[in-house]
Amino acid sequence: MALAEETSRIAALFEYSDEEVNKGVLEFLRQMKEGLQHDGTSLSQIPTYVTGVPNGTEKGLYLAVDLGGTNFRVCSVHLNGDTTFNLTYSKVAIPKELMVAEHAHQLFGFLAKQIEIFLRTHHGDHFDAHIRRRQTVSTPEGYRDEQIFRLGFTFSFPVQQSGINKGTLMRWTKGFDIPDAVGKDVCALLQQEIDRLHLPVKVAALVNDTVGTLMARSYTSPGKTATLLGAIFGTGTNGAYVEKVSNIKKPVGGDYDKSTGQMVVNTEWGSFDNQLNILPNTSYDIELDKKSVNPGIQMFEKRVSGMFLGEIVRLAIVDMLKNPSISLFRDENSSQNDWKSTTTIGAESSVFQQWGLDSSIMSIAAADNTPDFSTLRQELEKQLQVYAASREDALAFKKVAYAVGRRAARLSAVALGAIVLQSGKLKEAGDEPIDIGVDGSLVEHYPFFRDMIYEGLSAIEGIGPEGSKKIRIGIAKDGSGVGAALIALVAANMERKTVGDYLNRLRNDVAQKISNVFAGTAEPTTVA
Ligand code: ADP
Ligand code: MG
Repeated sequence: MALAEETSRIAALFEYSDEEVNKGVLEFLRQMKEGLQHDGTSLSQIPTYVTGVPNGTEKGLYLAVDLGGTNFRVCSVHLNGDTTFNLTYSKVAIPKELMVAEHAHQLFGFLAKQIEIFLRTHHGDHFDAHIRRRQTVSTPEGYRDEQIFRLGFTFSFPVQQSGINKGTLMRWTKGFDIPDAVGKDVCALLQQEIDRLHLPVKVAALVNDTVGTLMARSYTSPGKTATLLGAIFGTGTNGAYVEKVSNIKKPVGGDYDKSTGQMVVNTEWGSFDNQLNILPNTSYDIELDKKSVNPGIQMFEKRVSGMFLGEIVRLAIVDMLKNPSISLFRDENSSQNDWKSTTTIGAESSVFQQWGLDSSIMSIAAADNTPDFSTLRQELEKQLQVYAASREDALAFKKVAYAVGRRAARLSAVALGAIVLQSGKLKEAGDEPIDIGVDGSLVEHYPFFRDMIYEGLSAIEGIGPEGSKKIRIGIAKDGSGVGAALIALVAANMERKTVGDYLNRLRNDVAQKISNVFAGTAEPTTVA
């Protein structure tokens, strides 16, 4: 009985009440507004220069590349214009020595080479035609603009963006270290190497994965509804949403399309409430943070995302294992065990190592509703070297893991709910759903994660059960490739518009000068 009681006590530490959800939403809204006003706030609210979302009718062939932590992915995306797409894809591991190369051109040269191989393999026709044209067309560049592939570059390292295809690398993370790339524009670094190989490719857009998710979902969302928010619940968590430009009070430098009145904002919500005004803070959260590589930051992420949930559960389980008054994963004699063998936990069990418990076992625990939890008990043995766990042990694990997962989902509802309220869309008339695109293993695989988010949303004042029915949360499949392609398309349209505006200005200018000549007020210069 003692084990069951202690399990309930620990699970209760992770309860996140409706009242707390509502407090969280108010604070999230406050920090969102703060981030729209100044730099250096906990929610960074980074303007992305993307000023509209697709509606599914977009067409064309685009390239997308994704430099993540370990792999470089190249894909081409054919947008069919009817919310569907065809995607061709290749992936290579980034050679370790290039991650710590002396010069940026070594890594970026490798990336350009992969793009060349991809084009030759999958788009040979297009590639050859380009080379022929290059030899025949006599414009200064050797080619005309429309013969070029537009490329969306998903770059998952911290960058300070200053335009749709401009952003300087702030620092390397995830084991990369190429000092001479820091402070440089990563799009320019890639373009230089592409040009060196004379590839018909223009780096048109720099893409954050949340923005990619938002765009991909908006393209594929049923009924051509414009998506409000793209969110990631994977290793980390973050979201990007469509904001009114008039609400962005801090300066947004550089060029962007002002005609839509909207801009996608990357919240960087992993850092929501780093100051812990409202975030729950159990002794396990405190311990996790203290022993992390970045204490005091990414405090929301440390309670929500896949990288951390397993560690919270692990710390709680270790606490229970140390408690002499309960017997978790050990039995006095095997007669107490329904499997009639002695339960032990190996001294070498990864339960005793930091990060030793992967969040995926939480999904297995949540999914196992068999009477004796046989799948979970097997998994405890396989992953955590817990031998012959009893039914009670498995139930204790399941309850603690569920409490941690549920708190994460309700915290996720705080972020989603606040953004829905900030958009004002619930007050708009009509039956259009409020569409949210999500991606990441946690939201995809943790059973009922989305249902628990919905439950949290229903508890929010200003949303309620009625409002939550209007919110549609859907998975954004192949978000990174399709999203990057769509942002490349937006960038291409912007270029066209800029060229159009330039030609219009030129035309007006010429017309003005001609009329000045006729009016006799012309300056003594020749008409351009
Ligand atoms: P990434 O964030 O690198 O794009 P994923 O979206 O696959 O990758 O997220 C990986 C994270 O999700 C890891 O932290 C992992 O522990 C966690 N994870 C993977 N599978 C599951 C699962 N079934 N249930 C819960 N968490 C999972
Ligand atoms: Mg991902």
